[in-house]
Amino acid sequence: MKRFYPVLLMMLMCACGSNPQGQTNGAAIESRSVLRTEAAEKESETEDTAEAAEEERAFFAMNTYMRIRAYDADTALMDQAEVRVEELEALFSTTREESEIAILNRDKTAALSGETEELMRLALSLCERTEGALDISVYPVVRSWGFTTGEYRIPERAELDTLLRYVDYRNVKLEKGTALIGADMMVDLGSVGKGYTGDQLAALLKENGVQSALLDLGGNIQTVGRKPDGSLWKIGIKDPKKPDSQVGGVSVEDEAVITSGGYERYFTGEDGEIYWHIIDPATGEPAHSGLLSVTIIGKSGALCDALSTSLFVMGLEGATEQYRTYGDFEAVLVAQNGTVYITEGLRDRFTLAEGLDPDRLQVIEK
Ligand code: ADP
Ligand code: MG
Repeated sequence: MKRFYPVLLMMLMCACGSNPQGQTNGAAIESRSVLRTEAAEKESETEDTAEAAEEERAFFAMNTYMRIRAYDADTALMDQAEVRVEELEALFSTTREESEIAILNRDKTAALSGETEELMRLALSLCERTEGALDISVYPVVRSWGFTTGEYRIPERAELDTLLRYVDYRNVKLEKGTALIGADMMVDLGSVGKGYTGDQLAALLKENGVQSALLDLGGNIQTVGRKPDGSLWKIGIKDPKKPDSQVGGVSVEDEAVITSGGYERYFTGEDGEIYWHIIDPATGEPAHSGLLSVTIIGKSGALCDALSTSLFVMGLEGATEQYRTYGDFEAVLVAQNGTVYITEGLRDRFTLAEGLDPDRLQVIEK
């Protein structure tokens, strides 16, 4: 029988951070590529595929492995794309001393370039839309858990309570060209930055005549057009309980496919519990909403990125409400109990992985 999602291109990227518990399998696992296509299988059938000139570029940026595969692009354009990522990282990075965000966190006010302002404005609108499930000012809490350095720890409740007093995106003031935050605040655009970067790269490639490309920004997928043979891109979605296998795949065209999952970056505490990097700003602790992964599919990578993080925090009910109220995205949610929820618009575009019980699949209606 023909396999639906042959593993063709599987970049298993593993970045193991320092690990106080001394685990061998990597306490900090970032093995998040969800990229699999069926291109090779088709190749023998479709001669055109072989003729489209393929350019590929892999590099490390924004703390993750990135890979760009573009058809009918030249080396100069790939160089430009890589430089573009570096430019954006230099603007948004929290850890680069001279970045606009680092200056804001240090001085509590900073001049912002048009791009940083645009991204911050978008992020703040999503903080509001999700009623603070996304909160760009949760950064001090993320830091206290050690997720920014890999030196993991479990903060005391009192420490979290103190930090949480200053977490409130409504106290980030954005005026034209300037941002201002409270004296004890720090912000981080990490939950939206890679999605935004995907949008910018897709735009750059298109402006330069590329009609087909697949970008993998550390597991955040951005597609340009269709595959060179005219068929849709098929993007596999990992099983959060077994990240080496998939729960299924989704067919897309000119869209982003962005996942937030507890399996992406986590550590095991001395208490044997698993603590992951998506924090519920209401509690200061890793979010436990009943969802193990949230994949968002849509036209805007930045929106998909923001929603993947925040709907992970909000859970099934909040995600369903967002879908019904705004309708500007599609989603695949994998719940703790194994149920795979897909939004209505994916009905004909999502395929459950072979061998999985079809009863596991449920559709979220508008
Ligand atoms: P990744 O950046 O690893 O792909 P996400 O897009 O889900 O994953 O973003 C998670 C990152 O965003 C965390 O590493 C942390 O820096 C930050 N973060 C965690 N929880 C929140 C939250 N509730 N709101 C905003 N940012 C968050
Ligand atoms: Mg995100």
